[in-house]
Amino acid sequence: MTVVFLSLGSNMGDKLAYLNQAIQALSEIPQTQLVNVSSFYQTVAWGKTDQDDFVNAAVELETNLEALEVLRECQQIEKDLDRVRHEHWGPRTIDIDILLYGKETFNMPDLKVPHPYMTERAFVLVPLAELTENVMIPNTGQTVLEALSRLSHEDVVKI
Ligand code: ADP
Ligand code: MG
Repeated sequence: MTVVFLSLGSNMGDKLAYLNQAIQALSEIPQTQLVNVSSFYQTVAWGKTDQDDFVNAAVELETNLEALEVLRECQQIEKDLDRVRHEHWGPRTIDIDILLYGKETFNMPDLKVPHPYMTERAFVLVPLAELTENVMIPNTGQTVLEALSRLSHEDVVKI
């Protein structure tokens, strides 16, 4: 079994309902157990600030699936929740990103792990640190807590 950490975010419609539906769907992925879910956090939109706030959470899975299979499952859940993409970093009902897949790294067009922006984003690291503070983020030489300590995170507020 491989331990996988995901980042979930929503900034359209009933955000809490989308997150809860995504978590329910994640719990039904084959050969996979949902191990832990972080608190939900309200987060000021990053990258584009002229849009609604995000609600973010982190999820821990244990899986026998390959990383690309986990990605496909997550993308299917995004589709099922009627995610609408209008623009890069624009509004979405649900975004599910793979942050960590065991200690492995991937650098494929469709899958980059660890997620390239995770150490820059407090809205990713704050929920993740609730689940795992001391895991090393491959390629960075930092633990989750060390990466988080370099960011300001007063904009990330527990709901
Ligand atoms: P973003 O999450 O960057 O705002 P999307 O969710 O639309 O944007 O993802 C765009 C692409 O990112 C997808 O086609 C997916 O294949 C790719 N991708 C690369 N690495 C990852 C990852 N670690 N987790 C999820 N998607 C990833
Ligand atoms: Mg994504």
